[in-house]
Amino acid sequence: MSSRNNSIKLQLLWENGRRCAICGKKIRNLDELTVDHIVPKSKGGRHTIDNCQLAHKSCNSLKNDKMPEEFEKALRYNRKRVLIMRIRKGILFW
Ligand SMILES: [Zn+2]
Repeated sequence: MSSRNNSIKLQLLWENGRRCAICGKKIRNLDELTVDHIVPKSKGGRHTIDNCQLAHKSCNSLKNDKMPEEFEKALRYNRKRVLIMRIRKGILFW
């Protein structure tokens, strides 16, 4: 996209390394690396460094255009579901 987009990506990489702000895991594949807007652009978020974070493409699409607090709620719900699934399968690990 624009060079502005790229410079934010580079700055985030420089500051935080290749870590996904959503799941906390390392982003191994550069194709998976996306810039996520903390407050979505569709909700008035701006494309500035303090509103951007690096995230996996898959994590980013999971977050979609949710506001941070909405996403937290969805995530908590998801974690609970994953936990229940793991208990059922007997593969509980943290
Ligand atoms: Zn991730």
